[in-house]
Amino acid sequence: MPVVKNYSCENCGAVLGNINSVSGQCEYCGTAFTVESIRNCQEIFSNEGVTSGVPFNAQPQTLYKYVRDFLTSNPAAPSDVLESARITSCKCVCLPAYYYCYTGESAFTCQTANNVKRTVNDSSGNSRTVTDTNWTPFGGNVYATVEGIVSGNSDYDNVIDNMYKDYHINTLVDAESLEIPATIEVVKFTRPANELLGKYIRPNVEESCVRMAKGQLQGMDGYRNLSVIPGKITKERDEKLIMGIYNVNVEYNGNNYPMYISGDGNKVIYQSSSPVDAQKETALNSLKKVLADADSALSSNKTLTTVAFIAAVICFLFMPVALKIIGGIGGIAGGVFLMVKKKPLLQAARDEADNNLNNFNNTQQEVFRSFDANGSIIQGHELLGI
Ligand SMILES: [Zn+2]
Repeated sequence: MPVVKNYSCENCGAVLGNINSVSGQCEYCGTAFTVESIRNCQEIFSNEGVTSGVPFNAQPQTLYKYVRDFLTSNPAAPSDVLESARITSCKCVCLPAYYYCYTGESAFTCQTANNVKRTVNDSSGNSRTVTDTNWTPFGGNVYATVEGIVSGNSDYDNVIDNMYKDYHINTLVDAESLEIPATIEVVKFTRPANELLGKYIRPNVEESCVRMAKGQLQGMDGYRNLSVIPGKITKERDEKLIMGIYNVNVEYNGNNYPMYISGDGNKVIYQSSSPVDAQKETALNSLKKVLADADSALSSNKTLTTVAFIAAVICFLFMPVALKIIGGIGGIAGGVFLMVKKKPLLQAARDEADNNLNNFNNTQQEVFRSFDANGSIIQGHELLGI
């Protein structure tokens, strides 16, 4: 049976400690209670044969940091975003998933290259080296063990893929000792288990076998016509899981910004882009453009300077005397002007543009830093357990 930590009585608020039964009675006020989340879990365990899962054990501060970082992530985020945003919900959702571990065997055939060098003499008596490639039939067997996690409900393929693709099975917790909150939402299995073999497991095994065959051929001079023939696939392990996921929603300026955070707090998926102040964004873009223009003015000045000096050298070397003097002196004078007079002006303009951009970013960050420094906290924080 899963565990609800620090369960508190809904009637008197007394903390009743860790609860692992569906129902009980408050030892302080005598009120009978039913722990919905344990009941829901028990249902999915017995109906679906779920054996383990990812617990909900992200720290409230971790959840909060994801929300805060998201809200301030756009360089042109509105200045009041932390003040005015509100966390409107934090749902703990149990997503259904399959874990599989299979071993596959494949035979492969191909031709491998063997390069042989030899010296030949041509008709004029010069010798040179030529390489002959001899092709030999080659083949063997490869074995691959693959594992993976597939969503048990196609509506959540994206979430499961993004969060748990590389999840290590060793960190899964037994269903019996899974830590869950007092209220959870359980999503049902809709993907039939028999869909897995053809759609996920077999392609994964075949891909791995091709990779392993290619690995075996790496030391050769080359290979061609590689053909990998899929063989037997054997099940090693196969389980149904429930994956803890926090579904947090933040509201700002009438818009909703939902996000998913993995049960262990290690991964986050934002479902939308973060709030942005359109006016600020325009200002920021024009600052960026001024800097880019200043950069390109500097670099064309550099090119022009080089051209002027090269022109001077060409005039000195190749032109008749009159042009030598006019062109040469003109080129040098132009080059020196560009280098000595023009460049410092352009450099100053570039530095100023860079400064303005930095100031913009610093002012922006300062607003958010002082929000934290004042001890302010995003509204609705209590929903995260803070
Ligand atoms: Zn009570």
